[in-house]
Amino acid sequence: MDFDSTKILANARAAATDDLLDRVTVYRAGMEPEAVDIIEMELRRRGVTDEDIAAHGEQHHDCMRDQDGNPLMCSWCRKPAVAEGWGLHRIWGLVPAFPRLFRYCAEHRPVEHLPEPDEDHDP
Ligand SMILES: [Zn+2]
Repeated sequence: MDFDSTKILANARAAATDDLLDRVTVYRAGMEPEAVDIIEMELRRRGVTDEDIAAHGEQHHDCMRDQDGNPLMCSWCRKPAVAEGWGLHRIWGLVPAFPRLFRYCAEHRPVEHLPEPDEDHDP
């Protein structure tokens, strides 16, 4: 096994903090322990505390997993999926070829109906 810590460090340096947090929490089980160490080191360098990491893990505690317990990823990005649904891909206004199962992270989950923001509250 060739483990390239330099490459992982460079990759970690370039990644968004949120992405790194996902890796050491949700995707931790699927990673090399050395890679987890490097990413945690990078997070500390950015001022992220162990408590921040624990809180992030807690936040994604109920993300979707497959039968083996592996976290499932959003269909649109690398974030952990929190919802799924059969959908027809109509984003580009094209007639879809077939329906497929999409997974969504908190960010990409389709907004069905949000309550109106309460704007007439008194200061
Ligand atoms: Zn997403």
